[in-house]
Amino acid sequence: MTTARSPRKRLQAWPDLRVGWGFDTHRLVRGRPLILAGVRLPHTHGLKGHSDADVAAHAVIDALLGAAGEGDIGLAFPDTDPRWKGADSLKLLAQVAQRLAKRFQLQHLDLTLWAESPRIGPFRQRMRLKLARALGLPIERVNLKAKTNEKMGFVGRKEGLAACAVATLIRR
Ligand code: MG
Repeated sequence: MTTARSPRKRLQAWPDLRVGWGFDTHRLVRGRPLILAGVRLPHTHGLKGHSDADVAAHAVIDALLGAAGEGDIGLAFPDTDPRWKGADSLKLLAQVAQRLAKRFQLQHLDLTLWAESPRIGPFRQRMRLKLARALGLPIERVNLKAKTNEKMGFVGRKEGLAACAVATLIRR
């Protein structure tokens, strides 16, 4: 026999595990620094944006906000607000992580970067470390994958970079 219970009551019987997904793209332009996951990479081009345009940090912020059910980065840090002009996105990420930490235990982050150039490999460990520090996670719980787009599309033509992130959280 099944008893009629509200969806909220039924969910209370399970651990409140959340998976959030974030995605971002930014255009590559001359005359800007290239900052990815808080690490500055030597390159002829950098990412265009209102903040430092750290596409990796932005995807992670959206993954966290998605898991927490709190909208997106545009709501949290509007690009019309002069406070976020040139902002260090890793600091914004740390701010979001600290705020969510009151209600959620972050468990794991998996991040994928799409870049035809430069090569991400040599900077991978530094990026993981920066992200782990900002998130308050041990480095082994921060995974970073990097790939080209096989010369296809806007990433392949080196017009921009893309990043996507998956964050796993458990409600305290
Ligand atoms: Mg962005």
